Amino acid sequence: MKSYAESKKLPFEKLKGSSEKAISIHHDKLYEGYVKKYQEIQEKLKTVDKSLANATYSELRELKLEETFAANGVLLHEAYFDMLGLPAEASAEAGGDGKPEGEVIEALAKEFGSFENWQEEFKVMGMAARGWVILVYDFNDGKFHNYLADFHNQGGIWGAAPLLVLDVYEHAYFIDYGSDRKSYIEDFFSNLNWKAINEKYLKMINR
Ligand code: FE
Repeated sequence: MKSYAESKKLPFEKLKGSSEKAISIHHDKLYEGYVKKYQEIQEKLKTVDKSLANATYSELRELKLEETFAANGVLLHEAYFDMLGLPAEASAEAGGDGKPEGEVIEALAKEFGSFENWQEEFKVMGMAARGWVILVYDFNDGKFHNYLADFHNQGGIWGAAPLLVLDVYEHAYFIDYGSDRKSYIEDFFSNLNWKAINEKYLKMINR
């Protein structure tokens, strides 16, 4: 079960292409910042004056809008970090070696014509998004989709679950890659742990 009010540790110690500094800012400051803001919003919702509810401006309206921003900030970052990784003591079991494997590969190939087609679309969307690229499994139509979001609480479909998430906010790559987002996206793919992605996919479809 997921809690937006508790932070998760990183599942890896190193990433190819990313410095320790960039990873620790991303996880310890930014990601944990969303967890803390989510907690703060929950506290404020307990005492908000409901009699002032108003659609132009009210504290209740602002809190409820930012509640989804913070919760999705937590959820999307966890989905991003969870599928990456190169452990300190390299072990093929736990680390991300970027090698596609599992039923999910066949399922993506079936949906997009080929696995390479899916990968190409996901990568170019990474050049077009201002925030996120999200591979979802949509329980409404039983299909995969690649979606693009400029904000945490925009660009999604309710009932669709994120399977693989790419963060393309500048904080995710500028420290180590400068403006070379393309190389960051290539390294993202070489850091992927397809074993973990496949396990998540199998859990999703058997729920
Ligand atoms: Fe981020």
